Amino acid sequence: MAGCEAAYQLSKRKIKVKLYEVKRVKKNPVQKLDSFAELVCSNSLRSNELTNAVGTLKEEMRLLDSFILSLAEKASVPAGGSLAVDRKIFSQLVTKELEKNEFIEIINQEFINIPKDEITIICSGPLTTESLQEELIKLMGSDDFYFYDAVAPIITKKSINMDIAYTKNRYDKGETKDYINCPMNEDEYNLFYKELINGEVAIGHLPGEAELKYFEGCMPVEAIAKRGIQTLVFGPMKPKGLNKPDGTRNHAVVQLRQDDANDELYNIAGFQTNLKWGEQKRIFSLIPGLEKANFIRYGVMHKNNFINTPKLLNNFLQLKSNNKIFFAGQIIGVEGYVESCVTGLIASLHVFKMINNKTLINPQSSSVTGALLNYIHNASQTNFQPMKANWGIVEDVTYSKPINKITKQEIQKTKSLMRSEKAINEIKEFIKEYKI
Ligand SMILES: Cc1cc2nc3c(=O)[nH]c(=O)nc-3n(C[C@H](O)[C@H](O)[C@H](O)COP(=O)(O)OP(=O)(O)OC[C@H]3O[C@@H](n4cnc5c(N)ncnc54)[C@H](O)[C@@H]3O)c2cc1C
Repeated sequence: MAGCEAAYQLSKRKIKVKLYEVKRVKKNPVQKLDSFAELVCSNSLRSNELTNAVGTLKEEMRLLDSFILSLAEKASVPAGGSLAVDRKIFSQLVTKELEKNEFIEIINQEFINIPKDEITIICSGPLTTESLQEELIKLMGSDDFYFYDAVAPIITKKSINMDIAYTKNRYDKGETKDYINCPMNEDEYNLFYKELINGEVAIGHLPGEAELKYFEGCMPVEAIAKRGIQTLVFGPMKPKGLNKPDGTRNHAVVQLRQDDANDELYNIAGFQTNLKWGEQKRIFSLIPGLEKANFIRYGVMHKNNFINTPKLLNNFLQLKSNNKIFFAGQIIGVEGYVESCVTGLIASLHVFKMINNKTLINPQSSSVTGALLNYIHNASQTNFQPMKANWGIVEDVTYSKPINKITKQEIQKTKSLMRSEKAINEIKEFIKEYKI
């Protein structure tokens, strides 16, 4: 996705591109087609609605003349408010356009050696080949190249029962109270523990990977629990330094960490999990304070190569140690077809500007594109996790509640439309300023 978009955008600006693709000589376990831009799982590019962040992202991409999006629209199939495609037709359209393009030379082979003095965009995706993985590890070290995506569930702040949960940092460190804590007594813990270790686990994301080999740093919470009844109490559910506001000690505590700039979303800290989604809802709702938790993203565990972007890349998708090496797509820690594609588009604009000795700029984070870039560049270096397009990362809008009665949904919709309008205006500004 990202590679096709980037190649096309550069060719449109009359820059010659060598596009390396390995799939025609060696496919990964989920690829079936010989053609490019293969949607390996769902055929949906998700919402088209402007009230939705990914819908707004698509509008931003239309303004930026996205190649992939325009062909996805040509290959679309009816899907209500979403953009879904006939995956074969879509992939064929993309391949045909790239193959007939005189500025693009397609090289059907594995790309392994990363040149130091030629401008390169690496967008080898979540299933980068092993030889390239090794080269990347040589370039950046194994600590900053990840093999598995270990994502903890995210819930809305509004759905947390603050009559039970309380804000506090461990040992009251720091000036602000950043964590929300859900306390457990011994009986509550024992019940939770029993359900957790017996919870039904999802199979791996890749066919045939029922037994995933976990790295210690991203071990699922149920796998830690299976090591013994006390492991969680000494691990992610450690109660030390988290006594209740009245001073009472807890047997265990589940900590919730803010996940978005608008302080609307919280992730369950250290609760990366491979449990089935229904099981996550059932078992994690046993945590006191989370009885009515509204899960906006469930935890997942699957093979996903990505790099520690906040540590390794500068603000323009260039490797800090060599600005001729750009990265784009899922490998930089965005998640999803559309998100991957837009970063390919932005990387190619930066490459074009670099070739022309111009100053590089990004769209502001009031746009969804800018917000995604801002997130991956500024997220935690020690616990970096991939991100999808969502309003939580986009700069907030000022909204004054009308005097007349209005439902929560209406407020939400109005706010989303205001955000969307602001985002689209920001991209128009970016296009003017960057002279695209
Ligand atoms: C099993 C699975 C299911 C997924 N399901 C969904 C989903 O339903 N919806 C969604 O939005 N996202 C899904 N994703 C995420 C999805 O991969 C990305 O959203 C998107 O395809 C990433 O785009 P990309 O351009 O970064 O990588 P890709 O689209 O994967 O493209 C990378 C390309 O690089 C090639 N390549 C790899 N290594 C080399 C090399 N050394 N030399 C030359 N070529 C190489 C690959 O063959 C591939 O064609 C899924 C991912 C996986 C692994």
